[in-house]
Amino acid sequence: MTVESKTVVIGAGVLGLTTALQLARKGFKSVTVIAQYLPGDDHPDYTSIWAGADYVPVSQGGTEEAQWDVEGWQELSKVAKDNPEAGVWFQDRTGYYRNEDRTQESFNIWWRDVVHGFRYLGKEEVPDFADWGTFYRTLSLDPSTYLLYLQSQCLALGVAVRRATIAHIREAFSHDGAGTTAADIVVNCSGLWASKLGGVMDERVVPMRGQLVIVENESHGIFFYSGDGTFQKEIGECSYIINRPAGRGTGLGGSSYISWDREPDMDLAERIMRRSIKICPQLVPEGSGIEALRVIRHQVGLRPVRIGGPRVESELLPDGHGGELRVVHCYGAGGFGFQSSYGMANKAVTLVEEALGLPK
Ligand SMILES: Cc1cc2nc3c(=O)[nH]c(=O)nc-3n(C[C@H](O)[C@H](O)[C@H](O)COP(=O)(O)OP(=O)(O)OC[C@H]3O[C@@H](n4cnc5c(N)ncnc54)[C@H](O)[C@@H]3O)c2cc1C
Repeated sequence: MTVESKTVVIGAGVLGLTTALQLARKGFKSVTVIAQYLPGDDHPDYTSIWAGADYVPVSQGGTEEAQWDVEGWQELSKVAKDNPEAGVWFQDRTGYYRNEDRTQESFNIWWRDVVHGFRYLGKEEVPDFADWGTFYRTLSLDPSTYLLYLQSQCLALGVAVRRATIAHIREAFSHDGAGTTAADIVVNCSGLWASKLGGVMDERVVPMRGQLVIVENESHGIFFYSGDGTFQKEIGECSYIINRPAGRGTGLGGSSYISWDREPDMDLAERIMRRSIKICPQLVPEGSGIEALRVIRHQVGLRPVRIGGPRVESELLPDGHGGELRVVHCYGAGGFGFQSSYGMANKAVTLVEEALGLPK
């Protein structure tokens, strides 16, 4: 099917680019991505490039969000197999848990058959500081490489990418590629900035600050640790390690709390590094401490959490002249925008088709 309708996507984060790609794959001939930040940029406000990132669903089984995670796995695991240039790869993930943080019985993992080889680890298989664990093979990715890959896939299918900053969502309708005719529909993938964009101003969207240390050292796998009594709960401290493909370093995390502060907290960074060596001693030569970690950079990203869940829905907005403008929103992916990207994008595409009255 070929669709002639002009579509503008606001945003070149993982959601905007994935939505543009899925529209183009569905036969949309005129798709334009407009964004203030594009792949290759490293601005603190461009959330996608600051992600971990790995595939570990946080959704509840049986929900729409769980379905998005399944669709994410299906597509991303294909990419990992077929497109080594995309910066996505399979990694073993080992999780260590203390009973006081989480019991095995309370762990309801609906996605155990989505990832590969899921199994629980008994007391005898985990280090002394843990009571039990999990082991499975999942995906991790380098966000910057993956965004460039997504953009190249879009360009290959004729999607136009333009740098533009808009103050009101109505402005997006005049960015149809030729810059002359109004777009038929706009998809809003503005992430955290849906909280500031005129015509949207979604007060439920908040910045969930996450901090990582990216090091040269290789962890050869993904690791997670539930706690050791020193984690500061008020800033949602956690301990995880994600090895990235193709020499893109290893991400050590992390934290999770509402704040607009983009400056790395160096005390937190030190705690992150110490815990990382504890749960993954092979990061450094035997007997070494954090001085043996070769830091590439300290980084902070603001996850676009939407209280009550992501917004993927249609809206008709007044055009200011007595008419209506068709908009589909697709934002608020919090800490799971990569793993749920294809699921959210696919729903946004369906809503676009419905709004344009296209046959199913
Ligand atoms: C520390 C950290 C760890 C994470 N780990 C994971 C993980 O392991 N797995 C996972 O799946 N996810 C993870 N995430 C979450 C993931 O990064 C986000 O959910 C995702 O990047 C959100 O993408 P987005 O496209 O909605 O937003 P963004 O990447 O912020 O993109 C928004 C786009 O909209 C554009 N834009 C906004 N407003 C305007 C405007 N007015 N005019 C023009 N352009 C505009 C911006 O320029 C940008 O191009 C993590 C995030 C962080 C910070």
